[in-house]
Amino acid sequence: MSTSNQPLKGKTALITGSTSGIGLGMARALGGAGANLVLNGFGDATAIAALQKELAAQFGVRVQYHGADMSKPAEIEAMMAWVEKEMGGTDILVNNAGIQHVAPIEEFPVAKWDAIIAINLSSSFHTIRCVMPSMRAKNWGRIINVSSAHGLVASPQKVAYISAKHGLIGLTKTVALETARTGITCNAICPGWVLTPLVQKQIDDRAAKEGKSSRDAAEELLGEKQPSLQFVTPEELGALALFMCSDAAREVRGVAWNMDGGWVAQ
Ligand code: NAD
Repeated sequence: MSTSNQPLKGKTALITGSTSGIGLGMARALGGAGANLVLNGFGDATAIAALQKELAAQFGVRVQYHGADMSKPAEIEAMMAWVEKEMGGTDILVNNAGIQHVAPIEEFPVAKWDAIIAINLSSSFHTIRCVMPSMRAKNWGRIINVSSAHGLVASPQKVAYISAKHGLIGLTKTVALETARTGITCNAICPGWVLTPLVQKQIDDRAAKEGKSSRDAAEELLGEKQPSLQFVTPEELGALALFMCSDAAREVRGVAWNMDGGWVAQ
């Protein structure tokens, strides 16, 4: 990597679930460092095309989009092959796509369990197994798995999410060991509460259920878990991802790095 202000110039970063929230924050950070971007995720086609244009103009990088549904292995395989052909391979892989569902285990819909395990855990197995041959051939790669504070500790009513996020940390450690003697690193980032659509829905549900304002519900959510009482931001998580892509992070391998306002220190 050069020491210019675009240290990732010439690299390609694929960020799953980057049409929104944390994934978009990571895409902005990596694009700002000069990486060409492949976006993925759901959303309005016109809005996604506008986002591609905006990022390309802002950072002077190539910005592509692939709409693979991360719950479907065949679509993931097709996306990884497409990136290989179109962009010369994925140098930086950010496994970020994720969904949530909140219910006690005896009421937890089986279809939601299957979807959360597929999107929040199995999709990373598929992207990593597909990307590994080309990363090994280049002897360079950065794999960042977006887990959660809920990958380190549990809370009630989120059995599928917490199982998937704990599993993702196991996957991270295993891949880190299998690549330990190479220029490929694999690490997890474990955010606390970040105010994205995924969390806004939980705040809105709580506000509706308890007859509170959205602001009060958000304060309660933070108060229960996050000692700083501040949301973590996608920009801050993007900066951590950028560090993990740097030469200085060459020997950061297999970590589950929490950025969570003190959540798991308790
Ligand atoms: P978000 O809802 O803003 O973004 C989720 C992204 O994933 C979107 O781009 C969406 O289109 C995409 N996505 C969902 N299902 C998909 C599918 N089947 N195929 C492809 N893309 C799909 O949520 P977010 O808060 O930015 O979450 C991003 C990641 O961060 C998730 O893995 C989430 O578990 C994790 N996380 C979030 C928080 C938080 O507080 N927001 C905390 C810890 C971890």
